[in-house]
Amino acid sequence: MLRAFAIHLYSRISYLRYKMNSNCLFCKIASGQIAAKIVYQDELVTAFRDIRPVAPTHVLVIPNKHIQSINHVEADDEQILGHLFTVARRVAEMEAITENGYRTVINTGTHGGQTIFHMHMHVIGGQPMKHPMG
Ligand code: AMP
Ligand code: ZN
Repeated sequence: MLRAFAIHLYSRISYLRYKMNSNCLFCKIASGQIAAKIVYQDELVTAFRDIRPVAPTHVLVIPNKHIQSINHVEADDEQILGHLFTVARRVAEMEAITENGYRTVINTGTHGGQTIFHMHMHVIGGQPMKHPMG
């Protein structure tokens, strides 16, 4: 029983190590090495509060697997990325911003304003968003 659990734990840690980039801040948050205000986590994605919120709700939803940006998405990632949207919806429900609406943003590369190179979706709400973008 104990041996089975140890094997399970070892294979899980190995799996996470294989998928993660040891220099990446968001990989460290997903694997629990660095603390964050996690609002939701499962096998595929992690959602946590942005450290510099721009609105009353500002949550980042990330794949647990290290995907650098949309430029690095592969067909094999479709299940993860579809699930990321389902979790964004769940986060919006938990934050009670579904009815009034919210903004979802994925920045890609330098011109896109990406500063952390582990793909993430911003879920921002709790106040009217400002226009225009870009
Ligand atoms: P982006 O500019 O789209 O790459 O977004 C990166 C976001 O990560 C910014 O909104 C930062 O405030 C946020 N951020 C940076 N470090 C942390 C951290 N340790 N915990 C939570 N959010 C962070
Ligand atoms: Zn990463």
